[in-house]
Amino acid sequence: MDPNPTSPDPLDPIRKEIDDADRQLIQILARRFDAVKRVGSVKRADADTPLLDPERELRIQARWIQDAEALGLAAPFARRVLKEILNQSRRMQEALIEQRGGPTARIQCGYQGQPGSYSALAAAHLLAHRTTAETGITGYATFQDVGKALIHGEIDYGLLPVENSIGGSIADVNRLICDHNLHIVDEEIWQVEHVLAVLPGTRMADLRMIRSHPAALTQCETFLSSLEGVGREPWSDTATAAASLLEDGALARRDTGAICSEEAARLFGLEVLDRGLADRECNETRFVLLARDPETPDHRLPCKTSMLFRVNHHEGSLVHALNVFAAARVNLTRIESRPLPDMPWEYLFFVDVEGHLQDPALAGALITLRSCCTNLRLLGSYPSRTRRQDGHLDQATCAAPASAPQEPASCVVEVPAAPPAPSRPDRSRSTIHIGGAVLGEGHFVLISGPCAVESQEQILDAARMVRASGAVMLRGGAFKPRTSPHAFQGLGLEGLRYLREAGRQFDLPTVTEVLAIEDIPAVMAHADVLQVGARNMHNFALLKELGRVDKPVILKRGMSATVKELLLAAEYLLSGGNLQVILCERGIRTFETSTRATLDVSSVPVLRRLTHLPIIVDPSHAAGDRELVIPLALAAAAAGADGLIVEAHPRPQEALCDKEQALNPDDLVAMVAALRPIVAAQGRVW
Ligand code: PEP
Ligand code: MN
Repeated sequence: MDPNPTSPDPLDPIRKEIDDADRQLIQILARRFDAVKRVGSVKRADADTPLLDPERELRIQARWIQDAEALGLAAPFARRVLKEILNQSRRMQEALIEQRGGPTARIQCGYQGQPGSYSALAAAHLLAHRTTAETGITGYATFQDVGKALIHGEIDYGLLPVENSIGGSIADVNRLICDHNLHIVDEEIWQVEHVLAVLPGTRMADLRMIRSHPAALTQCETFLSSLEGVGREPWSDTATAAASLLEDGALARRDTGAICSEEAARLFGLEVLDRGLADRECNETRFVLLARDPETPDHRLPCKTSMLFRVNHHEGSLVHALNVFAAARVNLTRIESRPLPDMPWEYLFFVDVEGHLQDPALAGALITLRSCCTNLRLLGSYPSRTRRQDGHLDQATCAAPASAPQEPASCVVEVPAAPPAPSRPDRSRSTIHIGGAVLGEGHFVLISGPCAVESQEQILDAARMVRASGAVMLRGGAFKPRTSPHAFQGLGLEGLRYLREAGRQFDLPTVTEVLAIEDIPAVMAHADVLQVGARNMHNFALLKELGRVDKPVILKRGMSATVKELLLAAEYLLSGGNLQVILCERGIRTFETSTRATLDVSSVPVLRRLTHLPIIVDPSHAAGDRELVIPLALAAAAAGADGLIVEAHPRPQEALCDKEQALNPDDLVAMVAALRPIVAAQGRVW
């Protein structure tokens, strides 16, 4: 009890001084940020002014520390305060430059959880920075529900947590990103600060149970184990745990507390009994903002780029892929692997790097990366919200290093489209592994078999013949693109089954044509390589679908297609993410009638000059005549083709399809004998 209630408290004037200083601090901060915004407006108007000036930041920091120390303040403290202020200043300027939407647009963003959850807080914060438009945020029960709402157009964006600094990666969200065609357009780093919330009036001693999301319970291990006789109850999320205290009836839940955010406690009228509960001071969650369409951030913002890729399953292939980034001096910020459900013990790699897709160094690296991967999907470039521990900038916006490719401009990868031709500045060539066969520089591959699968017996005999000849892959059409609707159309699914069985018996990977989108699943399930025939080279809908599959595709040149058109057709496959594309020259239609088509041998060296993709030649459909097949095959090998696809039949006279051009078993052996010295002279492995 105060002995003399009227005497002035000696602390009062000092506290008043503190209150005045606080008020001034706020005013001074507001003044600083106002100036920062004006600088932002100038930068917005002039796209050439760099957004960030690392040298100026260093000068500011040096001055702060000098001034702080002169006034008796500790340097680490001053550095920490400045770091916060600079972060906020950068976010303000980035927001000014990036601000989208007009006053009329209403932007809807979904998150998992309910109001007061960390996801809801992060979503509200990020949206406020990104847009001037009116915004709404909606909570969904699961990550999957957010994904579905986004795909179906109910919301414009979905903000989902991908990793936590203590708990690590969030597998369900990563899976969602892998499985759907969504783009990452921003990220948010949220500082998780747990409090212990209770119904008003509850004391620590009343507590018997504390509920929260399991991850939050784990993060507060030390605190929880210090409480005797208090159990832990996992709950679906932190905000729901807080809300549940009210729902259960005030009296009943006086023995229970919830670990949640300060905001959730406030939202549900709860009292905060304790703060700073996590074992570690730093507890951050990284969220990504997903959208249906890619967005291109201002090139002056420090950015990150995310991608998914798969590499061949053989030694060194991942190192090779990662070396591409090292060589281009692109910094990796995250790498993770996800198992491929259909291919046990093979993995998809989830990689984030510093840099914008339009940075020459990164654009060049991505073009090179294509040759090391079997699949590459760019998820998007977006403003980087992570800072290094020293508070310094990511390198991302710094000028491209000297080693960057000199002419990547034409290959600038629009998010997430691909360069106009599957070319690469460094001229190295792709390698595609199919079973034991290797397509690419230094190798030669012979694919052979009948035009069509006609019966089980026929394809088994053909496989035996192919194996004995030294060819390493078996071809055979099950769906045949016949010029006449009255001609044999192929055995369809039955043919696919026979082909697969023959391939298995003779240990030969199989190649077969896919004619229509609806046949892709069946062909994928039966064959090792999918062929797009000459008549379908311009079937862009089919090419787009095949861009999404995870098997090599042989793309045949259309009968009246130029080399450039062939490359653009290949680009459909590549830009869909399928990098296992093999080009095939099979003759074009000219005024010459003595052959079925005119084999354009020159396309081989021309293509080698223009693209990194392997090139094979089909002399059979060019010749249309068995006697011409061998000389054309030899010419193709001599011109540098990476392989041949040649029609051969165990009994050509019985062939139901293209019988005039089918080699018989002896021809096939003779062709191989003639090819071997050419391939050997070139120093290639057969
Ligand atoms: C084939 O390979 O069987 C075929 C039909 O080839 P193209 O599409 O080149 O005519
Ligand atoms: Mn044929």
